[in-house]
Order: sequence, then C-alpha cells, then structure tokens
Amino acid sequence: MPPAVVDTHCHYFSETTPEEARRLIARARSVGLTQALVCSARIGELAYAADGAIGEGLAFALGVHPFDAYIPVDEALHTLEDEVSRRKASPLFAAVGEIGLDFRKNVLAGIAERAGITPDEAKARQIDLFVRQLSLARRLDLPVSVHAVHAAGALLTALESVPGVRGVIHAYNGSLETARRLTGLGFKLGFGGALARPNAQKLRDLLAALDATDWVLETDCPWMPAPDALSGERRARSEPADIVRILSAAAAARGLTPESAALEALGNTHQAIPALVPKKLA
Ligand SMILES: [Zn+2]
Repeated sequence: MPPAVVDTHCHYFSETTPEEARRLIARARSVGLTQALVCSARIGELAYAADGAIGEGLAFALGVHPFDAYIPVDEALHTLEDEVSRRKASPLFAAVGEIGLDFRKNVLAGIAERAGITPDEAKARQIDLFVRQLSLARRLDLPVSVHAVHAAGALLTALESVPGVRGVIHAYNGSLETARRLTGLGFKLGFGGALARPNAQKLRDLLAALDATDWVLETDCPWMPAPDALSGERRARSEPADIVRILSAAAAARGLTPESAALEALGNTHQAIPALVPKKLA
C-alpha cells in the first residue's frame, strides 16, 4: 500500500469541470492521497470550492485571498461571513483560507488600479483584511492556510497581533530565520512542487534544516507549476496525484524514506489542521 499523504493546500476545483476534478482526485487517491484541504482562491468561488470538496468528501477552507483586496474590506468580510454561516455545521469545514499578504509590486499595483487607491493603501488594505480574518479564525476556533509573498515582516507582525491562531504558511519560500519565528508561533510550513525543480536547491536545503515537526506537504494544484520539470516534461497545470512526487522530493531532501517522510508530514498535518487527519492515523 502506498503511504498515506494529505494535501494541505489545493484548489482542485479551480479552472476545471467537476467531472475532470473527480477523475483527477480518484487518480490521486489510488496513489495514496487520503485527504486534502480545498481552499477558496477567489471570492467568487467560495461556494463552488466548498461544494466541490463536500461532493468528494474532502475538507475545505473559506477565506478572502489577498488578491481580492481591491474589494472594500467590510464588503469582502460580509460575503465571507455569509458563506461561513452557511457552512459552519459541516465537519469538513476545516480552516480559514486562503488568506494572507502579497506585496509583489505588480500585485499591489493591480489592486490599487482596480480599487482607485494607491499601492500603499492596497498594502494597508491587505493587512486589514488579513488581520480581521485571523480574528475570524480565532473566533471560529479554526486554523488558517496562509499565502505570504514578499511580506515576511508584516506577516510576523500580523500573526503576533492575533495570538493563539495556528495553521500552515503555504508554499513557504523564505529564510530559515523567518521559518524559525513562524514555527515558534506554532505554524507549520507547506512545501509543494517547487521542491522538485532542478534549480530549487536552496528550498531543499531549507526543508532539510527544519525540525521534524515543522513541515507539511501541498500541491497548490492547479497553480503551482508541475514538479515534472525535473524530467524535462512540462505540463500547463499540476494535478492532485503530484502530491506523491512532492512526497518523494521532500523525503530525498530530508534524507528519509518516503514512508518515514509521509508519517512525519501526517503527524504535523494533524497538529496544524486536525480535521485533515483522523486520530487513528496521526
Ligand atoms: Zn493557493
């Protein structure tokens, strides 16, 4: 039997048909996928992502992505809270996400242009949106799935401002020093297809330097480039079954067998997002 693996961050239902998603999820299950956290990516797909996940018995997260900070924060949170109250009773509602901060110049410029504000105001709005969703997660007693790009300082400040919130920093690609501060706050770090890229030695070294308790697996499917870059093969989008190649890459980076790496990741996933791992597996 292949080792049990959990995908802690994905968007299996984005940019695809439900039939195609079902087919790809079945393939991933046949190679060891036991559970996944399907995150809403854009505010228009909150219900769609949740319905898709529930239909497949997968866990889901609801949240407003930092890319949607062009919407006034009160309005965005109102839409989110409506969906949250419809889903609150579902045992598959496992986290608040994807939420976070993305301070890349082009992202801030895009939000600023769309909202008729300055890039600095776009940044402030992302922070406000993020912090208020961290508070929502605390109120709901749910973990968070966090997107953070070029925003390490603001990320730490925001997380420290809402103590008690836990979860995963997805697609972590920062310094070891920031990693230690994040894990010190109780967060796990998510690693995906980027690990398998030939030029990603720095990322593999980072994963190797972490403690056994610090890391989890994810595909960010379909957005994260497929890990087949290693073989020279290129695919337009990644797919759920890629979690197994990501497990192999993580195991190699940590000097473990895939079986031991899977066990390590499973225990960490249980700590970060308990609903993803039944107690008997953790
Ligand atoms: Zn994502």
